[in-house]
Amino acid sequence: MSLRQDIGLISILAPCYNEEQTIPAFVQAITAVLESVAAEYEIIFVDDGSRDNTLNILLELIQTFADNKQGSIRLISLSRNFGKEAALTAAFDAAAGDVVIPIDVDLQDPVELIPQMLEKWRQGADVVLARRKDRQSDSLFKNMAAHLFYKLIAALSHHQIPVDVGDYRLLDRKVVESIRQMPERTRFMKGILSWPGFNTETLEFNRAPRYAGRSHWPFWKLFNHALDGIFSFSTAPLRMWSYIGFALSFVSLLYFLFIVLRTLILGVDVPGYASIVSIILFFSGINLIGLGILGEYVGRIFIEVKQRPIYLIRLKAGFDALAKNAQANNAQANNAQAKNTKKK
Ligand code: UDP
Ligand code: MG
Repeated sequence: MSLRQDIGLISILAPCYNEEQTIPAFVQAITAVLESVAAEYEIIFVDDGSRDNTLNILLELIQTFADNKQGSIRLISLSRNFGKEAALTAAFDAAAGDVVIPIDVDLQDPVELIPQMLEKWRQGADVVLARRKDRQSDSLFKNMAAHLFYKLIAALSHHQIPVDVGDYRLLDRKVVESIRQMPERTRFMKGILSWPGFNTETLEFNRAPRYAGRSHWPFWKLFNHALDGIFSFSTAPLRMWSYIGFALSFVSLLYFLFIVLRTLILGVDVPGYASIVSIILFFSGINLIGLGILGEYVGRIFIEVKQRPIYLIRLKAGFDALAKNAQANNAQANNAQAKNTKKK
């Protein structure tokens, strides 16, 4: 039996950075699905400071949808490229739907999954994750790196971050409200989206290669992103450093006792240049790593205390036609009210 019956409005969140080649195909694919499952839908595109024709294509799309009774296209254009995380955050802030689905516009996230997600939602799930079954579209090296990353973050983070799950998922309104209460500037979305918890279900899918254009994630950027994930969702590296400190101090104490005893028994032993130099080098290295890790956290505190906005909006379009059905309903209600007041 279904727990939930009606979906009012579905919000699709689609961040775009130089996606002129993919947007038309994406809109075609997703509207085909949405028209069959949703009473009403909005697709919120965030133009993340694209340098190609993305903005114009989106503005034209709003015109094309002007007379559509069921769906609206909304556009938020950011003042520059802020990155996918910030773009998604802007979309979350604007989304009005009862359920919200962030999705990539390159068709790597299959739109066919949406009806199944909604079915799970009707059965009571607040979050429906989409897990990649295989990663054929990625290189072996990227796969191994990703696997290692998930292992590491699972061991270190304070809450569970699901394995092989990207941003593509369905979120109920109450989860979206929780996410909007997370003001941090380091937007590690995998962590942010899973932090609220709630009743979670998982679907599986095969991730297709990009429809057109190219990925914006070179390896170095991914590596830094992984570090962001670890440092923003775990204080384990700091604690680990305390443990290493304790362990090394203990070993050093034993060695100190050994040296003192040996000197007392066997007399002063002057040679030992090599061991002194290697010990100094070793401990300097350890110290620097410790400082570096501390620095990662201090750097993040620095970014947080500045309290800068996560994104800046250059222009918004398509928001005036807010909730078409709601407008119609309001008009009806107003009419009814007018009649009532006339009667009186
Ligand atoms: N994206 C964005 N800003 C960026 C980089 C990417 O909004 O700075 C969007 C991009 O347009 C796409 C989604 O994020 O809709 C995923 O990007 P991409 O396909 O490059 O990532 P991958 O699939 O390789 O992880
Ligand atoms: Mg992609």
